[in-house]
Amino acid sequence: MVKETKFYDTLGVTPTASEDEIKRAYRKLALKYHPDKNAGDASAQEKFKEVSVAYEILSDPEKRRMYDQFGEKGAGMEGGIDPTDIFANFFGGGGRPRGEPKPKDIVHELPVALEAFYCGKTVKLAITRDRLCSKCEGTGSKVPGADIKCRECNGRGVRMITRQVGPGFIQQMQVACPSCQGKGTTLKEEDKCEGCKGQQTMKEKKIFEVVVEKGTHRGDSVTFRGDGDQIPGIKASGDIIIIFDQKPNPVFTRKGNHLFLERTISLSEALTGFAINITHLDGRHLTIKPRAGSVIDPANFYSVSREGMPVPHTGGVEKGDLVFKFRVVFPQTIDSSAVADLRRVLGHVQPEPVSEDAEENFLDRTTIDLEKESKRNAYADDDDDERPRGQTATCAQQ
Ligand SMILES: [Zn+2]
Ligand SMILES: [Zn+2]
Repeated sequence: MVKETKFYDTLGVTPTASEDEIKRAYRKLALKYHPDKNAGDASAQEKFKEVSVAYEILSDPEKRRMYDQFGEKGAGMEGGIDPTDIFANFFGGGGRPRGEPKPKDIVHELPVALEAFYCGKTVKLAITRDRLCSKCEGTGSKVPGADIKCRECNGRGVRMITRQVGPGFIQQMQVACPSCQGKGTTLKEEDKCEGCKGQQTMKEKKIFEVVVEKGTHRGDSVTFRGDGDQIPGIKASGDIIIIFDQKPNPVFTRKGNHLFLERTISLSEALTGFAINITHLDGRHLTIKPRAGSVIDPANFYSVSREGMPVPHTGGVEKGDLVFKFRVVFPQTIDSSAVADLRRVLGHVQPEPVSEDAEENFLDRTTIDLEKESKRNAYADDDDDERPRGQTATCAQQ
């Protein structure tokens, strides 16, 4: 028994969820609520934070064990966490010592066709980043090695100020240096680098070749470490994280490593066979038939082995299945002369004879919407329910 389920609830999993289930749940929710996708939506940002905290605890076996046993207080959430850090770590970024400053990662969602996930592909993608100006090597100065350190803050960009917040109570605060606006440098107009106009960084566009491996899933990602933004004075460069999305496919629906198709067939086809021609995601033509003598039951699923999606990290050697579900359309009428033959073929069993005095009734097709009707008559139905048992209303007055 676990003490609390809050973190599990946040991720929409049960307390018995596997590590993998927790990962998948986090991936889905983190992408949905990521601030880049929900600019200005405070509730989404709050949700992003909650999901991140829950994942931080539940993805660590030791913290999870403590949480299960003692609840949130036992899990040891020291200090605040940075949800974007957890996100970056999850999607392959990170890998730097905690606390070392690093520019925010650039997260880019790349829609990919199912065909490309099937065959593999390299996509060229242009991304604009802030990079240190190459002309001045990020100093912002025309004169190489010019002393442009702000004297007010000694180049730190911040200053400590003290202020009295109550009787005998002094608070010390760190604020951006007012004389250099937190940049740590002062530069005269005439000394500014011509390349970046003293800004130290420039917008730089670069073409990235993003390799989509066979079998890649929506939500998988590729990281270009250190290829993101650069900030003057910060040693580490940001990462670029490309997250794959999948464009809808008009024919196939992907279910994990399997491909799913729904088809409508006639009763005759369900009983006697048929052939479906499809063009696969790599352009191959397939003809798909039931095995001779078998019957397609719309209650079952059918599959063609190894014609699904490539299994990731197998180079396309392993594949899932191509799974079918059939809707069967019944004929509205049947020639009465065929009934005897059909009954013989289908192995008809004669029903129990009806009693002599039974009234014969025939079925007609109806379009009554019972759901709608039951709502319309909700009041009358309630009334019926309150009637004592055994007392029938229908015939009482007749
Ligand atoms: Zn420059
Ligand atoms: Zn300063």
